[in-house]
Amino acid sequence: MAEQSSGIMVVRTVEDLRRLVAQWRALGETVGLVPTMGALHAGHLALVAEARRRAPRTITSIFVNPTQFAPHEDFGKYPRTFESDCAKLAAAGCDLVWAPTVQAMYPENFATRIVPSGPADGLESESRPHFFGGVATVCAKLFLQTGADVAVFGEKDYQQLQVVRQTVRDLDIAIDIVGHPTVRESDGLAMSSRNAYLTTEDRARAPLLHRALQGVAEGLRKGDEAGQLTRHARQALTDAGFRVDYVEVRDATTLAAATSSATAERRVLAAAWLGQTRLIDNVSV
Ligand code: AMP
Repeated sequence: MAEQSSGIMVVRTVEDLRRLVAQWRALGETVGLVPTMGALHAGHLALVAEARRRAPRTITSIFVNPTQFAPHEDFGKYPRTFESDCAKLAAAGCDLVWAPTVQAMYPENFATRIVPSGPADGLESESRPHFFGGVATVCAKLFLQTGADVAVFGEKDYQQLQVVRQTVRDLDIAIDIVGHPTVRESDGLAMSSRNAYLTTEDRARAPLLHRALQGVAEGLRKGDEAGQLTRHARQALTDAGFRVDYVEVRDATTLAAATSSATAERRVLAAAWLGQTRLIDNVSV
């Protein structure tokens, strides 16, 4: 049965979800989906607004997906703020929160996993090899559970967006994937639920990540060499106290290594640690 939380309808089983979506469908209404892990901020709410522009009905899923966390990662301590998330979604005009339990999503004897390659190769997968398999599988499930016509994802997680696009294309899932620009704090730091982990000191230097990426993009526009630009950015971040996982220039669609002669659109992507917090960001060229 659907319940109400902070003024919005919440469903917890696939059966209830399908019944409610069928009622909308019977009225000829299309459906937009915003997949999230909760701990919602203005970036997520911008995705909800985008979904509302594209369909009369909007579902936000809130599910901290255990299969995309490695055992040493922050699944247990990932921020969970369900009541205030629901209040924000109600105020944002979202129609329904899809909040399955882990048991509903992965019942006993669950045995299927999508193994993405192509845009999933490298970058995040270097340090999180389990990650995109978990993401692709849960997103495919969310698309099939909701039967949504369109799903909105943030460019903040740019590799994820390209992996989801590839999955939908490869598996012929009938859904449009829309990317929405990264929403930033006034100092340029990309909004993230994980920013809450930053100490005051680390929060103060966190915007350097975005600034370093902008520096690489500017250099590329001037025709400077990618390898030299990314080496310089990595060094500047290291000097500022980051532990850098990668700073890379890639083809914006395939995420394959970008060649300097390429006329194709490029993207600059980075991941770096400040203390115990891993930040990711990316910019277009
Ligand atoms: P998550 O924060 O992992 O729950 O992400 C849920 C969705 O919100 C993903 O599509 C993210 O890319 C998106 N998202 C997270 N932070 C931002 C942001 N600062 N700007 C735009 N989208 C974002």
